[in-house]
Amino acid sequence: MKEYGLYIDGQWVPSTSGRTFQTRSPATGEVLAAFAEGDREDVGKAVKAASKARLKWRLLPAPKRGEILLKAASIMRRRKEDLGKLVTREMGKVISEGKGDVQEAIDLLEYIAGEGRRLFGETTPSELPRKFCMTVRQPVGVAGLITPWNFPFAVPCWKLGPALVAGNTVVYKPASLTPLCAATLVTILEEAGLPPGVVNMVTGPADPVGVAIVEHPEIGAVSFTGSVASGRDVYRRASALLKKVGLEMGGKNPQIVLEDADLSLAVEGVLFGAFGTAGQRCTATSRLILHEKIYDDMLQRLVSRTKSLKIGDPLDSSIDVGPVCSGEQEEKILGYIRIGKEEGAKLVTGGAKLEGGAYDNGFFIEPTIFEAVHGMRITKEEIFGPVLSIIKVRDYEEAVRVANDVEYGLSSSIYTADLNLAFRAIDELEAGITYINAPTIGAEVHLPFGGVKHTGNGAREAGSTAIEEFTEIKTVFIDYSGSLQKAQIDE
Ligand code: NAP
Repeated sequence: MKEYGLYIDGQWVPSTSGRTFQTRSPATGEVLAAFAEGDREDVGKAVKAASKARLKWRLLPAPKRGEILLKAASIMRRRKEDLGKLVTREMGKVISEGKGDVQEAIDLLEYIAGEGRRLFGETTPSELPRKFCMTVRQPVGVAGLITPWNFPFAVPCWKLGPALVAGNTVVYKPASLTPLCAATLVTILEEAGLPPGVVNMVTGPADPVGVAIVEHPEIGAVSFTGSVASGRDVYRRASALLKKVGLEMGGKNPQIVLEDADLSLAVEGVLFGAFGTAGQRCTATSRLILHEKIYDDMLQRLVSRTKSLKIGDPLDSSIDVGPVCSGEQEEKILGYIRIGKEEGAKLVTGGAKLEGGAYDNGFFIEPTIFEAVHGMRITKEEIFGPVLSIIKVRDYEEAVRVANDVEYGLSSSIYTADLNLAFRAIDELEAGITYINAPTIGAEVHLPFGGVKHTGNGAREAGSTAIEEFTEIKTVFIDYSGSLQKAQIDE
C-alpha cells in the first residue's frame, strides 16, 4: 500500500509522531493509501517553510505565478479521466461527477491564472497639485487553507488558485476522508513547477492540525470550508487573533415551484439538486417548496422518477447515486431519517440503508423523500445526504417566507414562468445564489460563490472576488511637487 508523508518545503516527510492513518473507498471498503498524521509541531514546520518561501514567491511576477497554475490545469486536463476515478474511489460520488469535480478545479485554475495579469488596483487624481494616488494589492503572507471532503479537487483549487496567484504561500489541511486526492493535487502542483515551500500540506485531524493552523501567529489569512459548527470554532479562534478569515459553510437550500412552472423541468431539476453527489453538496436541494395547486402532480412525478434511480457502484457509469462518504455520514443521515419519522413527517419513498451483496461493503442510502411541515427539524437543519423534504405552500409570499426561515443562506431556486415573480425572488430570497428555472447546484467559476446568514461571513470564492480573501490593499500617495503639501490643512 502506498504511504504518503506530509509535504513540507518540497519534501514528503514523516510526521513528528510517526503515526499514520488510512483512507478507504466508501463504496467497497478497500483501503486506498496511508498518510502521515500530523500534529501541532508539524504545522509549525510547515509554517516555517511557508514563511521562508514567501519573499521569493512574492517577487516572482504575478503572470509567472499564473503560468504555473495554468500548467497545473493542463496536467489535470491530460489526466482528467484517472483523476475523476480517484475522486470517485475515495469520495464516492458517481464517475460523471468525479470528473466534474476535476473539471471544476481545471476551470478555476485556468480562470484564476489570468488574475496574474489583472490584480487590479485603482488610480485617482489627488486633491493636491502634482500628486498622484493609487492602490496596489499585496499578498497577506502565509495563508492557512482548510477544506472538506465533498469536492476534494475543486474546493482546494478554489482556495489554492487565488492564494497563490496573489503571491501568498500556503499551509493546506485537507479533510481526513480524502487525503489521497489532496496528495495527488500537491504532486500535480509540484510537477507544474511550484517551488519548494510555496504549498505545504499537513494531513491529520481537525484538532490538532486544523486548530494549529487557525491559531498559528504567522498565518495571516485563514480560508475555511466546512460545517457551520466547525466554522464557528474557526471564527472564534481566528478572530481572537484578529486574522483575516473566509468562511464557506453549510446550506439548507430550497427549490420553489410555482403553479405556472414547467413541471417536467422542475422534476429533473430537483432530482439532480437533491440526489446528485448523494445530497452531499453545500448547494444540494434539501427543501422542495411546492405551490398547493401543483403539489399532487409534482409529488407523483417526483416519486416515480426517484424510484427509478439506480444506486450502486459509483464507477459504473449507468449508476445515478453512489454511497455517502463515510460510516459517520451514514449514521448522521439515518439519524435524521429517524427524526423525520418521529416528528410525524410522511415518508413517501426511500428511508433505508441498502443491504445485501455489494451494498454491505459500503454506505448506501436510498434517495429519500418526506412530505413535511415547515418547522420540523428535517426542514431546518442541514442533513447533507440524499434526503428531501417537501413543503406545501399557498402562494409565492408563503414560499419565500418558508424558504428564508432557516439559519442558512447559500443557494436557492425558483421555477416559474412569471417574470415579475422571478425578479422579486432575486430580490427577496435570502441566499448568496439564486437560480431561476434551474436547480440549486451548478456554480460556474468565473462568478462569485458564497452565502449569507450562517452560511458564510461575507467572503466570496471564485470570480473576480476570489483574491479578496488573500490580498490586502495598500494605498499609495506619490508627491512630485517638490514641496511639502498638506491635505485638509487650510493655508
Ligand atoms: P467539517 O467537519 O466542518 O470539516 C471541514 C474541514 O475542517 C476538515 O478538513 C476538518 O478536518 C476541518 N475542521 C473541522 N473542525 C475544525 C476546527 N474546529 N478547526 C479547524 N479545522 C477543522 O465539514 P465536512 O464534513 O468536511 O464537510 C461538510 C460540510 O462542508 C457541510 O456542512 C457542507 O455544507 C460544507 N461545505 C460548504 C461549502 C461552501 O462553499 N459553502 C462547500 C463544500 C462543503 P477533518 O476532516 O480532519 O475532521
